Formats: sequence, C-alpha cells, structure tokens
Amino acid sequence: MAEVKFENIVKEFEDENKGKVRAVNDASFTVKDKEFLVFVGPSGCGKTTSLRMVAGLERQTSGNVYIGDRLVNKVHPKDRDIAMVFQDYALYPHMTIRENLGFGLKNLKTPKAEIDAKINEAASILSIENLLDRKPRELSGGQKQRIAVGRAIVRNPSVFLFDEPLSNLDAKLRVQMRVELSELHKRLGATIIYVTHDQVEAMTLGQRIVVMNGGEIQQIATPEELYENPSNMFVAGFIGSPPMNFIKARLDGNKLHTAANTFILPDDKVALYKEYDGEQVIFGIRPEDILATKLLNKQPENNVVSTNLKVVEHLGAELLIYFDNGDDQITGRVSADAKLKALEPVELYFNLNKMQLFNPD
Ligand code: ADP
Ligand code: MG
Repeated sequence: MAEVKFENIVKEFEDENKGKVRAVNDASFTVKDKEFLVFVGPSGCGKTTSLRMVAGLERQTSGNVYIGDRLVNKVHPKDRDIAMVFQDYALYPHMTIRENLGFGLKNLKTPKAEIDAKINEAASILSIENLLDRKPRELSGGQKQRIAVGRAIVRNPSVFLFDEPLSNLDAKLRVQMRVELSELHKRLGATIIYVTHDQVEAMTLGQRIVVMNGGEIQQIATPEELYENPSNMFVAGFIGSPPMNFIKARLDGNKLHTAANTFILPDDKVALYKEYDGEQVIFGIRPEDILATKLLNKQPENNVVSTNLKVVEHLGAELLIYFDNGDDQITGRVSADAKLKALEPVELYFNLNKMQLFNPD
C-alpha cells in the first residue's frame, strides 16, 4: 500500500468557448498510507480532474504527482498500481460478471488459477457469489456498483480511486453501501481517495476531507475539525445540513448587534475575535445551535431571540424552523418536543459558545 502526494498541481484545459479553463489551481496535499481521504465540493470544482491526475488519465499542466516514493508524472495509468471505480460502473455489457471481474488480470497475463482464486475471494468479500454467471443487464444498480468495486479489489492495487460511486443509487441503498465501503476499507487496509459532491457522504466516510471550490483547496481536515473550525465561510456553509446561518452584524466590545437583536458574546469569543472589534462582520450560527427555550430548565437571560416563526417543517424527531432576522432568513433545527408552530411567537436561545465570525468581504 502507499501514500499519494500532489505537489503544486495545476491543470488547465483548452475550452473551445471559454478559452483556458483552470480546473485545478496549485493543489498540494498528501494522502497517508491506508488513509480514507475524501474530496468534496460543488459540481465543477475540480474533483474528477484531480482524481484522474492520480490515475494518470489526465496529465497535469505543472506540478508533481507521487505514488509511494515514485514520481509518476510520466508513468502510464496501467503502471501506477491504482484501480478506479467510476460513477457509471463501466462494466462490459457482453461479458459475464466473472469475465468482467477477471478482465484486467487476464490482460496482465495472470495465470487462470490465480485469476479464479482472486475472483472468488472478491466475490466472497462483497457477497456477490451468486451473480458471477450473470450479465450486467441482469443486475440492479446496487449490484452493478458492487461488481465495479469487485473489479478494483481483484487487482489488489496500492491505491483505490472512487469517483462518486454511489450517486446513481437510491437514498436507502446509498446509506447501506456507505457502511459497506467503510467496512471494506478496514478489511483491505488500503489507501482510498474518494470523490463526492455530497457533504454527508464526505463526513461519514472520510478520515480526512479535502474541501475544494473553484479549483482551489479550501481546507484539509478531519470531519470534526471541519465542523468545529471551518477555515472560511465557504467551508462553514458547505459542511453541515441544513447549512450554517450567516447573519449581517457589527461587533462592539462583547456585544454583537444584528438588525433585530443584540447578543452578548462569551469572553473566549470576544478574545478570539478581537480583530473584528468595531467592524461589520458575518455572524455564523448553525441550525442545531439554536434551541427552543421552552425546553430549557432555566431561562437564559442573554441571547434569547423573540420572534414569529414563518415556517415549521417536521422531520420526525426534529423540527426545522424558519424565521427572519432583518434581511437574513434563519434556519433552526430543534427537538420536536418543543412543539413549535408556524406563525406563533417563540423564544429561541442562540448557543453562542458555538458561534463563529467571518470577514464580510
Ligand atoms: P467536478 O468533478 O468537481 O465536478 P471536474 O474536475 O470534472 O469537476 O471539472 C473541473 C472544471 O474543469 C470544470 O470547469 C470543467 O468544465 C472543466 N473540465 C473538465 N474536463 C475538461 C475537459 N476535458 N475540457 C475542458 N474543460 C474541462
Ligand atoms: Mg466529477
């Protein structure tokens, strides 16, 4: 197994209409040996291009790619000791599943007995033994997805590359496959680079996550770090669901003034955000850090917002509540036990120990 390193990678495409498009701009990172690293970001941010440069399917404009100790800038994809699983599975329709699984090894002139043994092992790991003599068209989406993973496993590569492998599956199957992929990672002890636009998939699968936007790496961190300490507003708004609320505000000593309220910040936040004193800021607060005061034993004196709710959505155990603060619409996620109703006045407590401030520019 192996680590993967990007050193100042730039990738430009020549686009007929737009001219030069910079898909990846000066990306540097290291994927540790046996790590499950996830690339996440909106569509078009450069995730697939980055993965294809690891695979060697795309050549970087400048910079270096290493797999293990080896500089692989000019190494052909088939000599990089990687296996890639694509979103559309890319199975050969005229071959049986067994032939699909063995195809890569047959091309490498692996002896038949060895190919059979590897197919049987992968089939057992993925519980697909009963599918081996079928054709791809006879399989469901989830089964095809397993075969695509199986085809990577039989190659026993140093690095697995996954490009949005679950996005064609329905929601329930996606959750099930997510758990299976985590188990598979532990079992194989492999280095995995996994690309998705879905922040929930990224948070649940990744040991570390690379957040990308517009071809640039925004932050590389564990799921906990991304959630607790996003390095900018993009990351803060991308990680978490519903996303963090952003409210226009001004900081004045320990007072944070929004259009409709004044909040008193805890001392450690005042110290942390000293540089913003007297300035316009963006006040970030996550929906789950807004609480319905009815449920609190003791009514907090500060940081309570009295408002009328515009909309209340029931999620079962929780409610999503929507209300305005000046021009800013705010979303809260509170326990269903609060029994809040739309159009009724409520008091909401903002947990400012969890708030963040951002530069508005
Ligand atoms: P993602 O996988 O994050 O959705 P991509 O890596 O596919 O993003 O694309 C990143 C950017 O590069 C996009 O602007 C896309 O249009 C552009 N791009 C990707 N491949 C090509 C190509 N072969 N030719 C021109 N532009 C491309
Ligand atoms: Mg993509």
